[in-house]
Amino acid sequence: MDKTSLIGLAPDALQAALIAAGLPEKAAPMRARQLWNWVYVHGARDFVPMTNLAKDVRATLADSFTLARPQVVTEQISNDGTRKWLLRTGLGIEFETVFIPEPGRGTLCVSSQVGCTLNCRFCHTGTQKLVRNLTPAEIVGQLMIARDALSDWPSTGARPEKVEAGFSSGRATINNPSNRRITNVVMMGMGEPLYNFDNVKAALAIVADGDGLALSKRRITLSTAGVVPMISRAGAEIGSSLAISLHAVRDDIRDVLVPINRKYPLKELLEACRTYPGVSNARRITFEYVMLKGVNDSLPEARELVRLIRGVPAKINLIPFNPWPGAPYECSDWERIEKFAEIVNRAGYASPVRTPRGRDIMAACGQLKSESVKERASARIARETGEIQSGQLARMPH
Ligand code: SAH
Repeated sequence: MDKTSLIGLAPDALQAALIAAGLPEKAAPMRARQLWNWVYVHGARDFVPMTNLAKDVRATLADSFTLARPQVVTEQISNDGTRKWLLRTGLGIEFETVFIPEPGRGTLCVSSQVGCTLNCRFCHTGTQKLVRNLTPAEIVGQLMIARDALSDWPSTGARPEKVEAGFSSGRATINNPSNRRITNVVMMGMGEPLYNFDNVKAALAIVADGDGLALSKRRITLSTAGVVPMISRAGAEIGSSLAISLHAVRDDIRDVLVPINRKYPLKELLEACRTYPGVSNARRITFEYVMLKGVNDSLPEARELVRLIRGVPAKINLIPFNPWPGAPYECSDWERIEKFAEIVNRAGYASPVRTPRGRDIMAACGQLKSESVKERASARIARETGEIQSGQLARMPH
């Protein structure tokens, strides 16, 4: 029987798993807290170092469970320090995660799906059909792998401090985020997070847990192409910062660039932003706007952008288009980007231009893509009856 990984389980599910494995029910809450601390504060990869658990408890755990993360297939490092990991999970399904170091902060760009259903015209991931949603374990696992690779656990292998009652008591003494390399998480990798709502919500609850990975919700940003009915739920149930991939100020242009606009047009999208739970001047919504030469980058469009978002506490993130093989667009000229930014800025909105990072390793915004393809029903049946090797399933020649 395959052992279950405990990564990604919510606290109550973790307790239930321990009881099911034969640990005494009475001790389960305490054991679960100890494990949680080892796994999410110290990054333990197996049960051996958990010296505050009796030997026989460790043995029972090791018999039933693992602390396996997705497998790292490759790690690439850009000449600007950006890192990209290609990860593999389950039956050879592959996806990517990117770490972007900047002075004073480090951002991890996390994927929510393998492939995507949205088909945004300028996005490389959009050319890869949806393979499947990532599980909470695979989403949380991306952060854990990055912390492993960057030695970003506070004290891997050290004895944890005494754990007190409650998973989210907010005590984070040794878990001080200020000296961490990964300070921010953005759900801006492959996929549309609001089309994988439950798993993203479960994963981000673990990422934000004060007694675990402990990233504050303000430092977690969920980016959506505009799944309007899920936006208010995201605010109420996830409570992270919100980014909207706007990219156009008129429906006819946005219909082409971000086809989900045909379902949820600008007016509805902006209304969802105005009423986003928790939005305020201290917690602004980020509007992402990719600069596409001759498509959406005229100066009247900059002025229209300002009109459109009036009333929404916002900042505008202008993203120079990142090219990919066969892309149907070009990046706007630098001079135009600056003028566009100036108009938005004069209207009182912060309008930073996002520096392209990791372009040389195809790690910049919108460049992520893996070779995984959806398993056909016939292939699945063949695999289940043992006729072909799993490694063959997710590979397709370029
Ligand atoms: N599906 C979500 C999460 C992806 S976030 C969303 O759409 O928001 C990735 C961000 O990069 C989005 O704003 C996306 O529109 C943008 N992007 C996609 N392709 C790009 C490209 N080639 N150049 C620059 N930005 C791109």
